[in-house]
Amino acid sequence: MPVYLDYNATTPVDPRVLDAMLPYFREHFGNAASRQHAFGWKAQEAVDGARARIAALIGADAREIAFTSGATESDNLALKGVARASRPKGDHIITLVTEHKAVLDSCRQLEAEGFHVTYLPVDRDGLVDPEDLRRAITPRTVLISVMAANNEIGVLQPLAAIGGMARDAGILFHTDAVQAAGKVRFDVDDLHVDLASITAHKMYGPKGVGALYIRRRSPRIPIEPLIDGGGQEQGVRSGTLNVAGIVGFGRAAEIAEAELEAEGARLAALRDRLWRQLSSTLGDIGLNGSPIARLPHTLNVGFGGVDGRALMLALDDVAVSSGAACTSMDAEPSHVLLGLGVPPDVARSSLRFSLGRFTTADEIDYAAGKVSAVVTHLRRQVPAFELEGSEAGPDL
Ligand SMILES: *Cc1c(COP(=O)(O)O)cnc(C)c1O
Repeated sequence: MPVYLDYNATTPVDPRVLDAMLPYFREHFGNAASRQHAFGWKAQEAVDGARARIAALIGADAREIAFTSGATESDNLALKGVARASRPKGDHIITLVTEHKAVLDSCRQLEAEGFHVTYLPVDRDGLVDPEDLRRAITPRTVLISVMAANNEIGVLQPLAAIGGMARDAGILFHTDAVQAAGKVRFDVDDLHVDLASITAHKMYGPKGVGALYIRRRSPRIPIEPLIDGGGQEQGVRSGTLNVAGIVGFGRAAEIAEAELEAEGARLAALRDRLWRQLSSTLGDIGLNGSPIARLPHTLNVGFGGVDGRALMLALDDVAVSSGAACTSMDAEPSHVLLGLGVPPDVARSSLRFSLGRFTTADEIDYAAGKVSAVVTHLRRQVPAFELEGSEAGPDL
């Protein structure tokens, strides 16, 4: 199997998480909403335990966690749910150009419904200037949505500053915390966050289960459900709970919290090792995103003078993400890298390396060697006149 360096796309289920889940497929298969018998009670008890662990990971109260099908749904619920319920108060939302598509496309939908959205730019490092945000606030602004950590470049936005500003202005603050929760310290009170999206499969839990943190009081959050039905999750999200998935999510959160510090340090060292090896063997490469305000396990590198698609094709045994949306055949350069001002050709020839719990030093050494060999080989194939006009990524 190839070396897996795409942990920001999804993570394998930790064996400890799987062990916790299995009984909830077998003997404890009850519906957590069944109040009349022991099967339901057992499921309810397990959900309660998981809810408490997930809440603890982000400094919340268990009653502030609503389970969803994943962070895409959580982002949709936060943006659309709050905007639609806030309509009498205002119709303006502020977000960033580098947000995840789940946020951006929810905003597009809200625009179609008559809302106004400001998409703030970021600087060359990928960071928003809180002063830009302050200037964008109007009396009609009801919601600010800024991600905690970017999934492509790993930069950490200045959430505490933004949260404080939102609170002072009486505007609700949502953050997509998928890539931060369980990886770096993330506390909803410290950061003045009112709503936060998280998902199990980015922290060694199963796919298809996520949560939305919704602050309970001061302020109370107006939110309109996206799904109507049995009234589960305090009416915010109807549907039978995915009990086994939620149990796995809870165990995953518990492990992430316990290992966060040590694992962060280990991964930062491996990331730096990867960068050192690449930059010592290859010229004309650049780091995309801030070298300081960033996650420990994400490295996004632009390789000058190579064709992005040829690079991906040649990397047959190293699983990474490219700087182009692989959803379309015409390989649109990443909206995140373009948002940083990275030229389209450099964006297309950029790679995201995202490391995780099962990444070893040997794998890093192998991947660095392979990438260096492939880039060197591809550069030799490109006629010199084509290389002249190529632009390097940003210098470190
Ligand atoms: C993966 C991801 C999502 C989507 O989460 P799903 O649970 O897969 O729907 C949303 N935001 C960010 C930043 C992500 O990395």
